[in-house]
Amino acid sequence: MRILHVASEATGLVKTGGLADVVTGLTRAQHDAGDDVRVLLPAYPGCAQRADATVSHALGDPLGFGPARLLEGRIPGTSTPAWLVDAPSLYARDGGPYVGSDGHPYADNHLRFALLGRVGAILATAGPLLGWEPEVVHAHDWQAALAPATLRWWGGARPGTVTTIHNLRFQGRFDPAVVPEVGLPVEAYAVEGAEAYGSFCFLKAGLVYSDRITTVSPTYAEEIQSELGGEGLHGLLRHRKDALHGILNGIDESAWNPSDDPAIEAPFDAQRLTRRATNKRALQRELGLEPTDAPLLGVVSRLSDQKGIDLLLGALPRLLQAPLQVAVLGSGDPGLESTLRDLARAHPRRVGVFIGYDEGLSHRVFAGADMMCVPSRFEPCGLTQMYAMRYGALPVVRFTGGLADTVRDVSAGGCGFTFEDIDAGALGHAIERALHLYADRDAWTRLQLQAMRRSFGWDDAAKRYAEVYAAATAST
Ligand code: ADP
Repeated sequence: MRILHVASEATGLVKTGGLADVVTGLTRAQHDAGDDVRVLLPAYPGCAQRADATVSHALGDPLGFGPARLLEGRIPGTSTPAWLVDAPSLYARDGGPYVGSDGHPYADNHLRFALLGRVGAILATAGPLLGWEPEVVHAHDWQAALAPATLRWWGGARPGTVTTIHNLRFQGRFDPAVVPEVGLPVEAYAVEGAEAYGSFCFLKAGLVYSDRITTVSPTYAEEIQSELGGEGLHGLLRHRKDALHGILNGIDESAWNPSDDPAIEAPFDAQRLTRRATNKRALQRELGLEPTDAPLLGVVSRLSDQKGIDLLLGALPRLLQAPLQVAVLGSGDPGLESTLRDLARAHPRRVGVFIGYDEGLSHRVFAGADMMCVPSRFEPCGLTQMYAMRYGALPVVRFTGGLADTVRDVSAGGCGFTFEDIDAGALGHAIERALHLYADRDAWTRLQLQAMRRSFGWDDAAKRYAEVYAAATAST
């Protein structure tokens, strides 16, 4: 099948979270399965070099805000073709893909991502221009959602369209004054269109106007239809429930492979599990922790309210009365960052905190920690619990969304520790159960082996997406 993915991140080019891993992993699996896949992204600084891209086509002035060009290259480390929208006035910025170096979202994000969607729609219908026309356009999150919406408003022959919700909390809501600028007719700003609570909502446009909707786990697909998890869009999602599919993310098992991971000190597998101890020592050294055999609890996370790091902060004072070490890699909320730094200062050589984003260190935390903690308030899928299991670190997770779909408690025959209440005490109890089992080395090793045997590749998900694509194209 010919598939055009439209996305704002892809690992290898630009990454702020799980979306990037999913785009690169899923498209690699589809490419390997014989699909003709292309990924369209903004040409943020450095992307053209990383993709080894060259100018492919002039795109004119797609939205009336300046000219854009299409660059053509590949996602690094894969054979997946990547198209980059080159519009320096919108994308050549210091800072990240969404926020400037001052930490605030760019004031013109509506234009930046309206352009991405617009170019997606142009490429989807530009057979004569490119000699290639997709059968399906797959938009990821709000940043890409105007591609399917634009195609629906243009009418006429078009590919099937799919919008994937990676996180319903991020919706791309803007003042309605932006409507004339984003390339949709003003009628699209309506209750049955892209209007949401007095805002123009990019994601809602994608959810209303796409043939199919997917999200990244079956449990999250249910949760977002409820008032509690629906972030204000549950009514629409319930209305479209027959078009909504929950497909569990896979992980890229070649990028996350403990037996062949250049980022870690001692590659290991189930036959060489004892080598994990070397990685634990290396991690302790890197984070200034004492080189002991005390259990080491790891965290790799955005630091935001969603991720429940405050619950961990609430549980740790009591837990640290017993021998326990903690390694945290994360960045985000300044308040959480400084509380974590304070905690590290209060417990030298026992709590190691690295504030920042560091892909290599994230691998070393998975390889060296004994347990990984993911106490999220909500979690659409979550990848870190799967990386943890693959690297023999047992997950301690809140039983929600994709965490509930991937981690089973040891009491139910699984290899993780789950808790339900959004409460530091409930998390603390789950960690204590883990610590108790850790003391039984044989039992712990058996659970590690059970975790490492699990398969989280993309093949199943790729098959499910193929079914959704078939349904999407059938409805055009
Ligand atoms: P989300 O997308 O909500 O942040 P996921 O669990 O789906 O959560 O994906 C998070 C991804 O980002 C994982 O690949 C994780 O390893 C990575 N990650 C998060 N924080 C950091 C960090 N500070 N440094 C390196 N990688 C990180």
